[in-house]
Amino acid sequence: MRGENGKVFLIGAGPGDPELLTLKAVRALAAADYVLIDDLVDRRVLEHAPHARVVPVGKRGGCKSTPQVFIEKLMVRLARRGSIVARVKGGDPFVFGRGGEEVLALAAAGIECSVVPGITAGVGVPASLGIPVTHRDVARGVTFITAHARDGGAPDWAALARTGTTLVIYMGLQRIDEITAALSAAGMAATPAAVIERGTTDEERAVTGSVSTIAALAGEARLSSPALIVVGEVVRFAKKLERGLPLRQSA
Ligand code: SAH
Repeated sequence: MRGENGKVFLIGAGPGDPELLTLKAVRALAAADYVLIDDLVDRRVLEHAPHARVVPVGKRGGCKSTPQVFIEKLMVRLARRGSIVARVKGGDPFVFGRGGEEVLALAAAGIECSVVPGITAGVGVPASLGIPVTHRDVARGVTFITAHARDGGAPDWAALARTGTTLVIYMGLQRIDEITAALSAAGMAATPAAVIERGTTDEERAVTGSVSTIAALAGEARLSSPALIVVGEVVRFAKKLERGLPLRQSA
């Protein structure tokens, strides 16, 4: 046991494939006494943390979903005992990942924290399918957005449609009817769209179509969370999948 405070590494594990971990993440895992691991993270990343005690903190971790406050308190308690804590999250810790809240809680408790960035699903998942999210001939940029705002309000889809950016929608599958109706009303009915479930993993499944057809296609294929909705001309670059359900192309 170390005499003074330990520290916390807030690690992004990437979108799914455990080979998409960074070298920095691997090094932090190797140093960890405890690994607090989220649901969405492939358990194979734990191979890099042979000496650590593993605490699952997602929905499979015992209670329905470990409360955020409990996770923050646990990290503080362990670090105060001198432990090195690796807090592992899917994607990048700061992209819809509550990493910001955890960093603030650790700072307030005077605990040292290093953030190890990860490949966010919104970039890594489309890229692995050959979708270049900012291909300059067809997109001015990319917008990451969630359909699940904390205030419960819906995004301004008409304003987003006007940006000329690729839209990458996190946590949107449950509201795909509402989202695609709003985008269609904003003039995007014919714009290519994709829904990708568990991108970069062995269970990856995806459908492509247009804004007006994608909700029905995703429903037919029974796609479920975690999934991304990608909207924009860049979707035309999508490659056929080699495994799992073939990527279904339809106008
Ligand atoms: N911090 C994460 C996002 C956490 S929010 C990141 O940077 O990627 C969780 C949402 O991310 C899911 O509901 C889904 O919309 C998306 N997501 C995460 N991993 C995914 C994957 N492998 N395939 C598709 N969507 C994914």
